[in-house]
Amino acid sequence: MGECPVCAAEVTVAKDAISGELLVCDDCGAELELINLDPIELAEAPSAEEDWGQ
Ligand SMILES: [Zn+2]
Repeated sequence: MGECPVCAAEVTVAKDAISGELLVCDDCGAELELINLDPIELAEAPSAEEDWGQ
């Protein structure tokens, strides 16, 4: 279990999750990036809707 940095809800992290994996918070829908595995640390992922120069 990790904690959503946006709403502090518990976010399920798979046992075989890898660093950098993207998750979605079930509670607030925020996109989260797994930045550390031990202890589990989640950070808000950069918005996928950002303009990447298309
Ligand atoms: Zn959340």
